[in-house]
Amino acid sequence: MSLMKSWMESANSPDTDFPLNNLPYGVFSTGDGSMPRCGVAIGDQILDLCAAEGDGLLGDAAPVFDVPYWNDFMELGPEAWGELRATLTALLSDGADARPDLLVAQAEVQMHLPFNVAEYTDFYASKHHATNVGTMFRGPENALPPNWLSIPIGYNGRASSVVVSGTDVRRPWGQLKAPDADLPVFAPCKRFDLELEMGAIVGQPSDGPVSVQQADDMIFGYVLLNDWSARDIQAWEYQPLGPFQAKAAATTISPWIVTKAALEPFRCDTPERERPLLDYLAEPGPMLYDIDLEVGLAPEGQIETTISRTNYREMYYSSAQQLAHHTTSGCPMRVGDLLGSGTISGPEKHQRGALLELSWGGKEPVTLDSGETRSFLEDGDRLTLRGAARGDGYRVGFGACTGRVLPALEDPFQP
Ligand code: MN
Repeated sequence: MSLMKSWMESANSPDTDFPLNNLPYGVFSTGDGSMPRCGVAIGDQILDLCAAEGDGLLGDAAPVFDVPYWNDFMELGPEAWGELRATLTALLSDGADARPDLLVAQAEVQMHLPFNVAEYTDFYASKHHATNVGTMFRGPENALPPNWLSIPIGYNGRASSVVVSGTDVRRPWGQLKAPDADLPVFAPCKRFDLELEMGAIVGQPSDGPVSVQQADDMIFGYVLLNDWSARDIQAWEYQPLGPFQAKAAATTISPWIVTKAALEPFRCDTPERERPLLDYLAEPGPMLYDIDLEVGLAPEGQIETTISRTNYREMYYSSAQQLAHHTTSGCPMRVGDLLGSGTISGPEKHQRGALLELSWGGKEPVTLDSGETRSFLEDGDRLTLRGAARGDGYRVGFGACTGRVLPALEDPFQP
C-alpha cells in the first residue's frame, strides 16, 4: 500500500498522522458558540461532516453527524461504515473538486470525546507486562497467574472515568499500606503511573456469545489509551477481585478513532501459543496490528524524553479475542463499549509500557534527558502517547494522547 494523494496538500506529507489513507473520526468544536460535531482529520485540517452532510455530499440517510458523538453512525453497521469511507475518499482525493470551505484547521479547534463511552473494560494481555508485574507483586515463580495462558483476563472499569486527550488528571487519594506497616493509611498516591494501551471501540451490539470473527466484525476502530494507575493503592486492594480505585481516577483516550478499515494493511498474527487455546478463542486470521507506539514524559517546563518504544504486535491476545471472551457468559455488548488492550510491553527493557516496569518498582529509576530521574510520575509531569502504523511513504497515525498530572487535593473531605 502506498500514499493516496489528496487535494489537501498537508495530507500528502510522509510525516502527517492523517493522510487520505487514514481518515480518522473525531468530535470538535470551534469556540464560536457552535455545537461540538463530527469531523474527519485530513492533514492538518478537519473536514466538517456536519457541513458536508448539510450540503448533501454524504448521501440521503438521516443526519448522523450533527451530534457530538459517533455512536449513531456506528449503529448503522459495517455497510454504512464502508460507504462513508468510500465517499470521503472520493471527496478528498487528488482530482476531486477542492472544498476548502468545508475545512477547519486542527490548530483552531477543541477536541472532545469522539463517542459516548457505554461501558469500559480493561484487559491484561501482554505476556511481557504480566510477567514483569507478576514477578514484582508475587515473585518469579508465581509471575503468570495459572489462568493467564488460557483466558484474556480483564476487569470491568468505569465509563465515567474516561476523558479525552488534553484533560488534566488529578493525583488520587486512597488506602495505602507500606509493606512493613501493620495498617493502611488514607493519603495521596505516591506511585502514580501510566499504562500504554490501545482501546478497541465496539460499533455493533451483541446479545449472546459471538465468535472471534464476529467480534472482529463488531469493532469499529481503535484509539490510544492511557490507563492511569495508582500502584500503591492497587498493591493493597487488588486481591481477590482485581483493581478498583487504583484504576478509577482517569483513563485518557486519543481524540481520533482510527478505523479498522484504515488499519487493514497492517494486520499481523498473535504470537505462538505456549498452551493451545480453547476452540472458541481460535483466530480465523491475523487480528493484531503492526503499530509503533511510544511514550513521552515531560516534567513541567522541560523537554520531553521518550521513555518507551514498543509495538501493538507484542500482545498475546487480540481485541477480537478479548471481545469474544467477554460475550461467552451471554454478557450483552453495546455500541460505544471501550475495551482497553492491557499494557503493551515488549521483551526489551525500553519496550516496557509502564513506569512500574521501566523503574522495576522504583529500584531502577529512569533518567530523563534533563538529568532528572523518575520512578513514578511527579506533579506537573506531562505524559504523551503516540502511535502510527507505517506504510510505504505514509503513516496511519493516532494523534497525541496526552495529559498532565495535577497535585492531589489538599484534603478531599475538607469542605
Ligand atoms: Mn490497564
